[in-house]
Amino acid sequence: MTYDVIIIGAGVSGAASARELSKYKLNVCVLEKAEDVCSGTSKANSAIIHAGFDAPEGSLMAKLNVEGNQMMDRLAEDLDIPFKRNGSLVVCIHKEELGVLKDLYDRGVANGVEGLKILSREEALALEPNLSDNVEGALYAPTGGIVCPFILNIAMAENANTNGVDFRFNTEVEHLSRDDDGIWHIRTNNGEYTAKYVVNAAGVHADIFHNMVSSNKIHITPRRGDYCLLDKEMGGHVSHTIFPQPTKYGKGVLVSPTVHGNLIVGPTAIDIEDKEATATTQEGIDSLIEKASMNVKDLPVGRKVITSFAGLRAHEEHHEFIIKELPDAPHFIDCAGIESPGLTSCPAIGKMVADIICDLEKPEKKTDWNGKRKGIIDPNALTLEERNELIKKNPAYGNIVCRCESISEGEILDAIHRPLGARSLDGVKRRTRAGMGRCQAGFCSPRVMEIINRELGIPMEKITKSGGRSNIVLERSKAVKGDE
Ligand SMILES: Cc1cc2nc3c(=O)[nH]c(=O)nc-3n(C[C@H](O)[C@H](O)[C@H](O)COP(=O)(O)OP(=O)(O)OC[C@H]3O[C@@H](n4cnc5c(N)ncnc54)[C@H](O)[C@@H]3O)c2cc1C
Repeated sequence: MTYDVIIIGAGVSGAASARELSKYKLNVCVLEKAEDVCSGTSKANSAIIHAGFDAPEGSLMAKLNVEGNQMMDRLAEDLDIPFKRNGSLVVCIHKEELGVLKDLYDRGVANGVEGLKILSREEALALEPNLSDNVEGALYAPTGGIVCPFILNIAMAENANTNGVDFRFNTEVEHLSRDDDGIWHIRTNNGEYTAKYVVNAAGVHADIFHNMVSSNKIHITPRRGDYCLLDKEMGGHVSHTIFPQPTKYGKGVLVSPTVHGNLIVGPTAIDIEDKEATATTQEGIDSLIEKASMNVKDLPVGRKVITSFAGLRAHEEHHEFIIKELPDAPHFIDCAGIESPGLTSCPAIGKMVADIICDLEKPEKKTDWNGKRKGIIDPNALTLEERNELIKKNPAYGNIVCRCESISEGEILDAIHRPLGARSLDGVKRRTRAGMGRCQAGFCSPRVMEIINRELGIPMEKITKSGGRSNIVLERSKAVKGDE
């Protein structure tokens, strides 16, 4: 069958586009080379919903940042995902640089950001007592927020899928061409797909597909950002997201609570060429701790760090989102250069992609589209009575599998059996947080593997951490009675 639209990539850009397009009578398919949604940059970022004062006035980035920020409350409610407007502070620690706060304030006002305020040293410290003793002032943005990037990405994809969008995982796009009838032929490692429209939402790989179909070449530089995630004990060290003053490389090293109660510190900004190189370095981690400590005092690093990770920004040299039908490749829509604030902007990115296609194709709207999705029940958020009632109805909610995060078997079963359900350890982790805690899956991995094996019939040696060749066990080390 020829699809109306094929989307390359199931990160937040692809998933948001799929969800918006699922409102129309269109056959849509998302091709994703990984084994799950949220396997690229969307899984490794600061998780901040930016207010919108950073991007240059008049840019598409500024417009979609502010629109995406404004759309987030409704999206979070409809998709039942954690989102908190905790507010952000850009901190100034050098008196002679106080003017930068005013510049950011003016740019924010021009971009349409509401509620911005420049705070004195005393006002800033009253809001955040753990700011550096050197603080001279701060820009306060009450519309800044925090979100869970995994759940946001997964929820948009799930909702698109329940509204009819197909998802093909482990399907890597290798080549694109357009025939004389205007149909796109998409060759993958899993056979050929055809479509009237292609959306290129391939993150750091988007330049490859852009350059395959267009003579106007672009180059995307992966700009690596390293992070430390600190134990939940430290989650209250600050309550707002604390930024330094921005540089030409980005918004700088932030310190922020996460929606799940941890403290995140990062990212660095290191330009590399390898589009898969997400290993952190000691040098990177040391530098971010040093930078963060200039704005926030008594940062409890060291043994309170439970993990480190890195993500790759899809940096295009003009530092602007490229979202348009390419003039020399009809019906090929780029969604490229989606670096920060791509997470914040994703609802608006999805809408813009859908609007481009709808303007050309004029599809009918579905009358039965359902934009609501119910998340996985979190027993920790229930009262004791409600929890007891839940366990009475389904004892699996009383069996704790991940001790650090207190995640029950009931939540893991839901994660596996819901639309686009988890098939790997990381798939379960991103949907439930089993394995995200202090022991980083040391305790619960074998137990989650047993559940995946039992529920999906995947042999133990074929269960992976995150698809591909990330198998966890190779074979039995000892034959047991009954084995051949
Ligand atoms: C360090 C860092 C910090 C950030 N912090 C923030 C923040 O706090 N707030 C914010 O708003 N934004 C932030 N961002 C930006 C945000 O994370 C990204 O803009 C967003 O996640 C990009 O989503 P995407 O869907 O475009 O790309 P991705 O999430 O990378 O998705 C692209 C998908 O395409 C797939 N793909 C690639 N090639 C192929 C192929 N050949 N065939 C099939 N599939 C393919 C990949 O596997 C991947 O799943 C940050 C980014 C980084 C790196």
